[in-house]
Amino acid sequence: MLLKLKLYIIFKIGEIKLEIKKVGNRGVLFKFFYLQDTGFGVTTNVYLINTKNYVFVCDTFLGPDSMKEVKNYIDINLPNKIIIIFNSHYDWDHIWGNCIFKENIIISHKLCRNNIIRAGEKELEVYSEYKRGDVEIIPPNLTFDNKISFEEEGVEFFHSPGHTNGSASCIDLVDKVLFAGDNVEYPIPYFQADNIYDYKDTLEKYLNLDIKKVIPGHGEISNKSLIKENITYINNIITGDIEEYLDFKYRKVHLENLNRIGKSI
Ligand SMILES: [Zn+2]
Repeated sequence: MLLKLKLYIIFKIGEIKLEIKKVGNRGVLFKFFYLQDTGFGVTTNVYLINTKNYVFVCDTFLGPDSMKEVKNYIDINLPNKIIIIFNSHYDWDHIWGNCIFKENIIISHKLCRNNIIRAGEKELEVYSEYKRGDVEIIPPNLTFDNKISFEEEGVEFFHSPGHTNGSASCIDLVDKVLFAGDNVEYPIPYFQADNIYDYKDTLEKYLNLDIKKVIPGHGEISNKSLIKENITYINNIITGDIEEYLDFKYRKVHLENLNRIGKSI
């Protein structure tokens, strides 16, 4: 089976540029380059976990045209498996592909579903130039408060407020991989909610997990060191030790963060 091979494929179809990479024993990372090319400067990750009974897909990127690539991969390599979708948070760049899976179970935190219902159509209007295919806003159809565990599969989804109040994470307990969505970012986290104490708490809880790899919503596969760096940033915001973040590397996101939490330089 293809999944057992060491997998590293880069291909370009029209404007879709995608890298597919095997992670651990049962994970597959789909790294999309489309937003990087459009000036946002980030690659975006969709993460697949192949378990005993299901294929879990974390986040759905920019629409059906992007997610067709993931679906094709599943059709070829994991046929007849039931697909379960997970949304890590409500941002447009992580949920627009839900519509290609509207017959499937789509899981999120309760607040994430509420946020999609509240802001989804508006975001589709504002960022429509980035959509890939005909996007229809499809909110998750299965929600949880604290966590939901697939005991037989070794997969858990849990509330992890941070980047947004309804952010949630996925842990593969077998491969020891955490999919953290946009809660973990290089080089510094991006605040979209204003409670940075919740954010810090979530990142500190991540450090207590038995994990070897961390997959952020954007950028490279990492580990606990990136979580620690993100905690350091929040600690520095709290103590006011923030001068270094005016450096070009951090400046734009840092200034937006200060604005979000009502602090000035
Ligand atoms: Zn994002």
